[in-house]
Amino acid sequence: MDKFLSIKEIIPDMQEWSCKVIVQEKQQVTQSLSTPTKKQKFIFVDEQESKVEGIIFNHDIPRVGPLLQVYKKYRISNALVRPIHPKYQTAELKVQWIITSKTVIEQDPDDEDMMPVKFNCTQFPDLAQFMDHRDKSVGMYVVYYTYIMNFNSENLLQDHFALPDVLGIVIEAQDTRIINKDFKESVVQKFVLVNKQSQAVILSMWDDFIRNEGQQIIAELHNYPVIICRRLKVSNYNGVTLSTWFDSAILVDPPVQQARELKNWAMRNTKLLAAIVDQKSYIKYNPDISVKSDQKMTLISNVRPSQKNVWVKARFSFQHIFQKYWYMSCKKCCRGTAAANGVIFMCNTCKEKHPAQPRCRFDMDLCDDSGTITASVFGEQAEKLLTFTAFEIMDHFRQACCPLKY
Ligand SMILES: [Zn+2]
Repeated sequence: MDKFLSIKEIIPDMQEWSCKVIVQEKQQVTQSLSTPTKKQKFIFVDEQESKVEGIIFNHDIPRVGPLLQVYKKYRISNALVRPIHPKYQTAELKVQWIITSKTVIEQDPDDEDMMPVKFNCTQFPDLAQFMDHRDKSVGMYVVYYTYIMNFNSENLLQDHFALPDVLGIVIEAQDTRIINKDFKESVVQKFVLVNKQSQAVILSMWDDFIRNEGQQIIAELHNYPVIICRRLKVSNYNGVTLSTWFDSAILVDPPVQQARELKNWAMRNTKLLAAIVDQKSYIKYNPDISVKSDQKMTLISNVRPSQKNVWVKARFSFQHIFQKYWYMSCKKCCRGTAAANGVIFMCNTCKEKHPAQPRCRFDMDLCDDSGTITASVFGEQAEKLLTFTAFEIMDHFRQACCPLKY
């Protein structure tokens, strides 16, 4: 067939057609718990920037999946065309092509190097607004719940919005760790992403992402790989952290303008990036990329234990002046340990060997007109408030409490 149609011209149940597409995304093979069906999804884009979902099922996945490589251009003919179920449709994806071992797929010799795609990438400080709102993934969209607390009445709002794309340079890959969750063994690996503002955020990749995109990133680590991550989960840890989800996509060095520009910037700022890796400040809480206080205030009497994130406007006071103000912690993960100061020990939490060091911690009371709540303050913030370092506090405690030892 000589005439190529555009993605938009190919409608459900159409037969005898051919189309030139670029593979924008190749997702992991997924299987839901409720059905034995395995599937692998793709996003194809044409020269007019129209998109269509490609999907391969079960036994066809190992046969046809490897033929379709990300960022390559193909001529695809006569796949079965059907509408995506309305529940899973998105603004850009309404139709899917079911690719089987019978589908005609040829690599196009006219392999242009740029994808005609623009990603709507979110700035790192704006990620916090997507935190823990990912209850359900619906294609490009998620169901977003907001609790509105108004004179103790509670409304549940349900809203749809597009989950943002995240663009960053990978500057570090940490070791893989095995986690047992719900009787299932999973592998997780953390990667550090940096943007042009030198802000860093941690991305945890899980299972297949490590074996596929993770390996690709590690092989390119010396070349400042730029990645675009799609449909990630955003959680509250040290500001914000990102992690992959079953339908996330990680595009490694995609041939798009935004990624090329960032890579170019990275090549010109190698010293700066090396300094970030050196200082490892990204393992600490970063107020620049955390939930901003202007987002929503809650009265203290309305704070519930199930809330992961809450902003209150409060006065603070010390009811309990006699506290220890510090504890011995793992230098890496800050969990408590019985190891002595400076001793390198095997941490039961992060499962790595790190030195024990004192960390500042104390409790104080927060109160507003509605009530009082106890807050624990840790680390640097606690040191700042007390105007002592954890080491000074530890020394002071030891001299004051155990005079007989000296
Ligand atoms: Zn640890």
